[in-house]
Order: sequence, then structure tokens, then C-alpha cells
Amino acid sequence: MPKIDVDVTRCKGCELCIPACPHDVIGLSKTFSANGYYPATMVKSEACTGCKLCAFVCPDVAITVYK
Ligand code: SF4
Ligand code: SF4
Repeated sequence: MPKIDVDVTRCKGCELCIPACPHDVIGLSKTFSANGYYPATMVKSEACTGCKLCAFVCPDVAITVYK
């Protein structure tokens, strides 16, 4: 099953990846990262198709997609 990994040391919680995902897979974590941001996280992991759109839009190159 495809999945994404968010590098919480890079993610700044800008939310650009959330509307970029056509399947509403991504949301923000409810807990702070060590950097003081709410990082992106999978909230509907079963819907991920591995399309990589989220990774393309992330300005901080924080998302890795595994197929
Ligand atoms: S790989 Fe595609 S489906 Fe999966 S979280 Fe990213 S944008 Fe959404
Ligand atoms: S686009 Fe990148 S930096 Fe912005 S919330 Fe998503 S993973 Fe984090």
C-alpha cells in the first residue's frame, strides 16, 4: 500500500500539501514538532495512491512517497 513519510525536521506546517492531495490523505498533526510546527501527517492513509503530488508541491522537500 502506498504511503508518505513526512520529515518533521523539515516540515514547517505550511499546509500546501493538504489541498494538493486529491484524496484528502493529509492533515496536520495535533502535536508540535521539535521545531515548533504542527507537521503534516497522514489522516486517511488508506486512500493514498502514491501519486506524489504532495511531494511535488512541498517547498521544504519534506515528503517522501513510498509505493
Ligand atoms: S502521494 Fe498522492 S494520494 Fe498520497 S498523500 Fe501524496 S498527494 Fe495524496
Ligand atoms: S507542504 Fe511540506 S512543509 Fe508544508 S505542511 Fe506539507 S509537508 Fe509540511
